[in-house]
Amino acid sequence: MHELSIAQSILSIAEKAFPADSKEVITAVNIQVGELSSIEIESLKFAFSAMQEDTLLQKAELNIEIIPGEAKCQDCNTIFHLPAFGLDCPHCNGFSLKILKGREMKVLSITLDE
Ligand SMILES: [Zn+2]
Repeated sequence: MHELSIAQSILSIAEKAFPADSKEVITAVNIQVGELSSIEIESLKFAFSAMQEDTLLQKAELNIEIIPGEAKCQDCNTIFHLPAFGLDCPHCNGFSLKILKGREMKVLSITLDE
């Protein structure tokens, strides 16, 4: 289950971003997950909640923003929403697609509070 290693890297990125002398706590981690990243959101939330105990992030919520998949057809240049791999161009039914967006997983920010 690769969501475990993703949750692990979210935790370590957030811990590194946290100022060591801070009196505040991390209340949220804000991430972006692409629709085409093959990350299962529910599995990721589960893995995160299992790992956050006894860390700096034990009170943190995981805020996930989904980035829609977007592709460009190399045959007819149509740009369209691609919710999953394996689909063809809605305009010409071509399969030579270039993925423009939706594969990423990014930690955007952490939210701190007292
Ligand atoms: Zn096309």
